[in-house]
Amino acid sequence: MRNVIIIGSGCAGNTAAIYTARAGLKPLVVSGHEPGGQLSLTTEVENFPGFPEGIQGPELVERMKKQAERFGAEYIHGVVEEADLKQRPFRVRIDGQWHECRTLIIASGASARWLGLPNEQKLIGHGVSSCATCDGFFYKGKKIMVVGGGDSAMEEANFLTRFGETVTIVHRRDEFRASKIMLERCRANPKIRWITSAVVEDVYDVEKGYVTGVKLRNVKTGETWVEPVDGLFLAIGHIPNTKPFVGQIELDADGYIVSHGGARTSVPGVFHAGDVQDRVYRQAITAAGAGCMAAIEAERFLEAEGH
Ligand code: NAP
Repeated sequence: MRNVIIIGSGCAGNTAAIYTARAGLKPLVVSGHEPGGQLSLTTEVENFPGFPEGIQGPELVERMKKQAERFGAEYIHGVVEEADLKQRPFRVRIDGQWHECRTLIIASGASARWLGLPNEQKLIGHGVSSCATCDGFFYKGKKIMVVGGGDSAMEEANFLTRFGETVTIVHRRDEFRASKIMLERCRANPKIRWITSAVVEDVYDVEKGYVTGVKLRNVKTGETWVEPVDGLFLAIGHIPNTKPFVGQIELDADGYIVSHGGARTSVPGVFHAGDVQDRVYRQAITAAGAGCMAAIEAERFLEAEGH
């Protein structure tokens, strides 16, 4: 029986692990299918406080893990397949084996939706990105493309005009689901170009190791062509990793955990941290802060029960 199991090993999970481990709770951290979370997919991180020269995303998250292990956190590789949160102790099934715990911190994150292009995964961190806030700075004076027609795409395109020479929004339809105000803001921005009714078919150049262009197809005419760009930003939504918790805790229509104040979920003793609940900020530092909140709440919950 564990005092606390933490699901997820990104910024939120690792910070929750540091705090609960230092409180002597010997947390078990489940790494999940994306160990290290979103940070493990980025290159240089320049906005995490404390690193004036910047730090590589994977290194930052590895250092957090080491810090948690130093205080007694235990990490296991594995994926949570099922959870039973209807009774105490809580139970989670990890790779076929049930584990019991008094408190549970869900920090399983939200995965960026990718297009599934032949070369996409090979160029992530080398011109293909799902986070303008993280990577926009590296595209000063460059040609940038943003894919998507929602609020995220508008927000990211607008933000990226601070850096890029041009920002081209590519959307698969003629109509946008983005809110009017966000759309109007982009329409008024002279640096933004528009390509509608077009889908991305592939991104080049894997051999060079950086992005040089994107193959597009007009869905109405079937015409294909290569648009030269230096950076491809995808803003086609995120998928919260909450599948094992469906029917166990309150989730919203998109599958994000509904917060019941602070780090609390609808089930007392089960706490949330990071992108699995946050669809707005999604930053390493906000996830870390949320991990700290969840840890403090778990600690207090256990203390009130006399553990
Ligand atoms: P979203 O609203 O689901 O929009 C995703 C966009 O990506 C849609 O335009 C969709 O096209 C497109 N898309 C999805 N899959 C695609 C594919 N395989 N190929 C090409 N295009 C694809 O997601 P979001 O923009 O991330 O927003 C999520 C939520 O957060 C929304 O509720 C949004 O309002 C909110 N949000 C708010 C703000 C703000 O207010 N500041 C900022 C960001 C996000 P279709 O339109 O054709 O389906």
